[in-house]
Amino acid sequence: MHEVIATHRVGFRLLKKIHETDHKIIPVYLLQIVFQLAQTYISLFLTAGLVDALRLGEFRQAVVLTAALLGANLVGTVLVSLTEAAIRGLRNVAGLAIFVWLREKTFSMDYETMENPEVAEKIAFSEKTSDAYGSLGMVLALYRDIFQAVLSVILSTSMVIWLCLTRPVGSGTFLERLAGPLPSLLLFGCALAGMAFFSGKVFVKFSEKQKAYFEANTGMEMREDYLLNQVFLNEKAGKVIRLYGMQDMLMGNAEAEVKKSKAYWGGMFDVMRRTIQANNGLNSLFTIGSYLLVTVKVVTKAITVGAFTQYVGALNQFGNACFIIINCQVRLRNVCTYMEKFLAFLDMEGSHVKGTRALEERKDGAYELVFEDVSFRYPGSRDYVLKHIDCRLNIRGRMALVGPNGAGKTTFIKLLCRLYEPTEGRITLNGVDIREYDEEAYRALFSVVFQDFKLLAFSVWENITAGFERDDDKIWKALEQADAADIVKRMPKQLDTYLYKYLEDGVEISGGEAQKIALARALYKDAPVVILDEPTAALDPVAEAEVYSRFQEMVEGKTGIYISHRMSSCQFCDEILVFHEGEIIERGSHEKLHALGGKYTELWDAQARYYA
Ligand code: ADP
Repeated sequence: MHEVIATHRVGFRLLKKIHETDHKIIPVYLLQIVFQLAQTYISLFLTAGLVDALRLGEFRQAVVLTAALLGANLVGTVLVSLTEAAIRGLRNVAGLAIFVWLREKTFSMDYETMENPEVAEKIAFSEKTSDAYGSLGMVLALYRDIFQAVLSVILSTSMVIWLCLTRPVGSGTFLERLAGPLPSLLLFGCALAGMAFFSGKVFVKFSEKQKAYFEANTGMEMREDYLLNQVFLNEKAGKVIRLYGMQDMLMGNAEAEVKKSKAYWGGMFDVMRRTIQANNGLNSLFTIGSYLLVTVKVVTKAITVGAFTQYVGALNQFGNACFIIINCQVRLRNVCTYMEKFLAFLDMEGSHVKGTRALEERKDGAYELVFEDVSFRYPGSRDYVLKHIDCRLNIRGRMALVGPNGAGKTTFIKLLCRLYEPTEGRITLNGVDIREYDEEAYRALFSVVFQDFKLLAFSVWENITAGFERDDDKIWKALEQADAADIVKRMPKQLDTYLYKYLEDGVEISGGEAQKIALARALYKDAPVVILDEPTAALDPVAEAEVYSRFQEMVEGKTGIYISHRMSSCQFCDEILVFHEGEIIERGSHEKLHALGGKYTELWDAQARYYA
């Protein structure tokens, strides 16, 4: 019982969310239930009347009732199919809603929470499994069947109670006494209680078995999805697979998955088949008992022969409805097990402090950023990635961060952009802890190009404006600055050309071209602080030199921070910070650091050997 309540708690919350997303969906489903039930039960009544009319030779009435029966069925069928057509469209809306909710939540949560592997796994899990289990469309369909079945049970039970209350013409014989209201009510009550009891037993037994199967195989869809989409259908993986001859190993993996899947579904279907058999057995017993009761009522003339068909129909409906309730409840529980995780994800609170302080708008770009004894370790990790960082970013200055891989440079930028919060110490903007500022307003200060920049399969202009208003002159200027104008000019529809071939027939671009467009996007934002985190990794040396020579111009009047693996490109920066194992071990101008003969010189000399 506990579990049934838990399932419906999840189910009703989902229904409420669906209703908030689209107010039409649930009313249309309810309408379909009403039409379907009305068609069934009106037909039962009309058939009963028709049989009686025929038996009594009232042919005119029989004709009217036949016409009414046909008419009711016709109208019912039309109405049900109309709602079905509407539902088909709306079901897709509901199916998509889950992805929209997921995205909304993902976008609204702080980056730190999102990057947490556990959370990333929760997102992927919710997405894949809810899809595999029919998502919200399935929840809606199951609830429709359950509601309809519950209403059908109420209607049919009321009819059968009505049948019990009918009185036989006489009261002398045993059968006539048995057909009296009280004994028949007692008989029906016992049959109902017996049916409920044994159905409950069947439900518990088989639902436990299904649950065991289900739980033992959780995550199966994730593995299947990974193999199919990330390995078999992924072009990049395709290259590696061929070059390393991994085909046999992967086919072995896939076969093992198919075997598991077969065993799972085979087992699941076997349990379902046995559930159906047990329910059918119970149903048959109940039907036999009910037929006897109705027959006794007819024989004792408590009801007419016509009414016999009506009550037998009602009892059939009752049996079917009970089976549907049990079956759908088990399926709903399976879907809700996944959906519960999804709702838990939606309920997750971010760990960041959400500041509210307004940002002082300064035309002169005088935003002074200071790291005050900042140390940081990633959530769940014990090792400090940054240790006691103290530094001031000179307004409108040029700062370069250099150091070996893993020294903490990107992490420094992530903290600065408030994607993560310092574990110790603080970062201030014009003397105020950055956590106090409104997050969005604070982030507006930065134009960042990360090494793993991402362009979307949208038009060029959408990629560059990235949500800001379109201004073609400004876009072309940004493209010129990023040395990408020629690339776009060569495209068939220039700024309106789509990138990649996902959504439209777009153009494929090389990594270097994409990087330049990403650079233009950062410049278009025109923020007071420009951060380039190894933005030229995909560029050839000539293009790279070109970008660097333009860097001064790109960040004219702004503060520029800059991570590069190419030491020579840092020379023109006012200050160079040398990172090593999470600490700033040297700082100063190129000349100063070079003269020092320390780590910077070591890095410089090491590179000079390759680029000499
Ligand atoms: P750099 O930019 O200097 O190459 P990073 O700042 O990217 O260095 O990384 C510094 C250290 O932090 C590395 O040891 C890296 O493995 C670790 N690290 C980076 N990102 C994460 C993360 N999301 N979770 C845990 N550790 C991370």
